Formats: sequence, C-alpha cells, structure tokens
Amino acid sequence: MVVLEELYRIKQQEFTEKLKEQSDPHIVYVTDLTSCSHKRVLRRNYPLLSFRFEPQMILGDLVHLGLESTLTSIKHEGGRWVAEVEVNQEYEVEGELYRLKGRADLVYYKDEKPSVVVEIKTSRDLPENKPLEHHILQLQVYMNILGASRGFLVYVTPERLVEFPIEKSSIDIETLLRETVEDARRPRYEWECRYCPYSRLCPYSLNTRKQR
Ligand code: SF4
Repeated sequence: MVVLEELYRIKQQEFTEKLKEQSDPHIVYVTDLTSCSHKRVLRRNYPLLSFRFEPQMILGDLVHLGLESTLTSIKHEGGRWVAEVEVNQEYEVEGELYRLKGRADLVYYKDEKPSVVVEIKTSRDLPENKPLEHHILQLQVYMNILGASRGFLVYVTPERLVEFPIEKSSIDIETLLRETVEDARRPRYEWECRYCPYSRLCPYSLNTRKQR
C-alpha cells in the first residue's frame, strides 16, 4: 500500500492547494468555457465533491507525464517542445474583471514563438473515430490565445493511438466567458449530465435515469 498512500497524499495535497482558487468567483478555467456553465457554480458551492482518486484519472496523469517528458527531451534545430504552458489572461464582463486560466499540454516553439499546440486525451475508447467537439473547442481556445497556427488532438485509448490535426479558426472567447460567468449554458452538451459528479444536486440535470 506504500505507493497508493503516497499517490493519494500527493493528489489530496494538489486538490487542497487548488481549493481556494476553485472557489474564487473571478477565476474561470479554460475547461469551464467548454463545458456546462452550471458545473462551475456547483463546483464553487460544493468544492469537495470534485475530488477524485480513480484508476482512469491516474492513468491519464501518467500518460500526460510520459508524453510530455518524452517530447520535451527531444532537441530540434530552431525549435523546442514545452509542456504545461500556462495561459493567464484578464477579461472584462459587465464591468467585472475575470481571470481566464489554463495549461496547454504541449506547445512547440519555433524561433521562440508558439507554433503548434497539442492537447492529450485519454479515454476508454473513441467510438466515432473523430475528435470530440469540446476537445476541439478547448484546443481552439489555446491556439487563439497563444497565437499558434496549428493544433493536434492526441488520443490514447487501450486500442488506439491517434492524432487529429485541427485547423485554427477564430473563436469568440469573450462570448464563451460571458456564457460561463452568467451560467447561460446548462448543460453545454446534452451528454454531460450523464457523467457529471453534481447531477444528483442539479436542478437542470438531464440525467433522469434512476440513480443508485
Ligand atoms: S447535471 Fe448537467 S446541467 Fe447540471 S451541472 Fe451537471 S452537466 Fe450541468
């Protein structure tokens, strides 16, 4: 049990360190822009409910760490990979300032300018053999903020290791932010309620199946 206990302690500590920030009404994460706006409300009201310690999450963390450290160790002429590139921008909505925060998994810098953004996704499967809409939107947010012209979504599943190139398109980050802070997209996608940790507490849940 030594490894599990250490791992649990680390995850708990990371969670505790983020708790204050997660309850701050003026902080919005990039992932908030691409998911149900009411999840953010419930996360702020019931912060402890979002703590998870599950194999799927640990596997995802390890895949991220492995790919990030492998790519950042490669030396290129005139370019380099950087992992966990921070995004931290301020926006104004109705006279209130909000800070948009996030981390792009991998960014390739060519001549010290962001050129390619990569988001890594792990899942059990990829049923339709195409990238998921909210992942594309998340990548677009990073590409737009960082000014990178190319993007890739890399999926790692037990059966597949596949990357999808994504064309950069201009997106309206201020509208996404407004929808989020005004809680106007609940949910953003119908399927979200089936996987939502707050669905039992949520008055807008579309998950009407009997829950055990
Ligand atoms: S149950 Fe659905 S509407 Fe409610 S917070 Fe979760 S995803 Fe959003």
